[in-house]
Amino acid sequence: MFDTLSDRLTSVLKNLRGKGRLSDADIDATCREIRIALLEADVALPVVRAFIAQIKERAKGAEVSQALNPAQQVVKIVDEELVGILGGETRRLNLAKNPPSVILLAGLQGAGKTTLAGKLAKWLRGQGHTPLLVACDLQRPNAVTQLQVVGERAGVPVFAPEPGNGVGDPVEVARQSIAEAERSQYDIVLVDTAGRLGVDEELMRQASNIRDAVTPDEILFVLDAMVGQDAVNTAEAFRDGVGFTGVVLTKLDGDARGGAALSVRHVTGQPILFASNGEKLEDFDVFHPDRMASRILG
Ligand code: GDP
Repeated sequence: MFDTLSDRLTSVLKNLRGKGRLSDADIDATCREIRIALLEADVALPVVRAFIAQIKERAKGAEVSQALNPAQQVVKIVDEELVGILGGETRRLNLAKNPPSVILLAGLQGAGKTTLAGKLAKWLRGQGHTPLLVACDLQRPNAVTQLQVVGERAGVPVFAPEPGNGVGDPVEVARQSIAEAERSQYDIVLVDTAGRLGVDEELMRQASNIRDAVTPDEILFVLDAMVGQDAVNTAEAFRDGVGFTGVVLTKLDGDARGGAALSVRHVTGQPILFASNGEKLEDFDVFHPDRMASRILG
């Protein structure tokens, strides 16, 4: 994952080793190299600019430390700034004081939403919750069945419209699922919504209508990391059209560069909560900005 970026950054920082004192020219040269590495990793330009400006400012005015040599200080600054653009602290899931909590999953078709619904459901079960999956993707012919398969694997029940009984109205299904959760004491309702291949108004309207019907505690935008910084445009469209409170990155296992992961927090202002890195239900974890930064810096 992010091998090229990782290699580039470690080799740039290695060049500083052994220097007794860093001149402004040394720092400028290092920042130029970091900038190229980030652009090649497909990180969005505004993010690169902000990142480099911070490194420069902090490295030039570097706190004199007894414990660290100049090169180590720069590594520390780069590490801290990486943690910063990845979101800083680990952000925990927001749950309602009075269950059921409602989590809405939104994103483009193929982003990995349905798979993620199963992963999250399984993970929540492991945390002692009793989740209910809700099939509100009624556009794609196989979506309900796919969620049922995923639910079965996760050991989590799926609320889906009865054939012939109000089929076709995802807002009504979402509303009914809350009543079902209250009745049967599920404490978290996970709503899978329809995705399109591209952002469109109908998709946004439907997701907004579901949102208004169920007032979610979290709206998670599911983002395919392999799309690179293009993902950022989709994320902005969802932010403006539906709004979301957090991001889930999927397909990190296939993302060699890291552009989406490093851009999305800064561009959308919303934190990354979870990361998916494979097709199996276990390939999923809470996203920790500090651990990700450490992996990047090797
Ligand atoms: P949806 O249309 O957003 O519901 O997307 P799906 O959940 O159907 O996923 C689309 C494809 O991506 C499927 O083939 C999944 O197996 C695959 N997929 C989902 N998450 C991941 C992941 O983290 N890594 C990899 N490699 N594939 C994934």
